Amino acid sequence: MENHDIPTRPEETLDGTVVFNVPFPKDLKDLAGMAPVIVKQPYHIDYIHSYGQDSPFFAGLANRRLLGSRCTACGHTFGTPRMSCMACGGDCEWVELPQEGRVHTFTVCHFGSEEFLPECPYVLALVEFEGVDTLFLTRLLGVDPARPSLDWIGMKVRAKFRRLSRFKPTDVWFVPA
Ligand SMILES: [Zn+2]
Repeated sequence: MENHDIPTRPEETLDGTVVFNVPFPKDLKDLAGMAPVIVKQPYHIDYIHSYGQDSPFFAGLANRRLLGSRCTACGHTFGTPRMSCMACGGDCEWVELPQEGRVHTFTVCHFGSEEFLPECPYVLALVEFEGVDTLFLTRLLGVDPARPSLDWIGMKVRAKFRRLSRFKPTDVWFVPA
């Protein structure tokens, strides 16, 4: 007599991640021509990450302020968070960057990491600020990535901030001023 409550076979999945009987050669030399085994699996991590000494930069973004750093010894000014001076090794202090600058250079990205794929193609620009010695890497919106133009070089741009901060570098981007 058959008991229908007791399974007689394991549950099968339809997602192709479980493979039985992968072909395997008798002679290991034939493995050189083997096609790659490809599996599909969900991937998720909760990543707890400390911004450490860079934290004020992200707190600044949340408050629509763009922070850079300046060397207390030689005065070199950086368009990014920096605790120690790249030029002389001195200690840096926080300074507020102007929210207007100019496009130093740019590139159109047709591919990117997972987070940016939905935005492709998009424009990445290096922005220069008056009185700041290094550049700021950021997305440039409000221009057409399909029609990149050298006229964008030197174009005046201004910062825009996410209304609801995610405390990520993408909380700020630039648009033509
Ligand atoms: Zn310095």
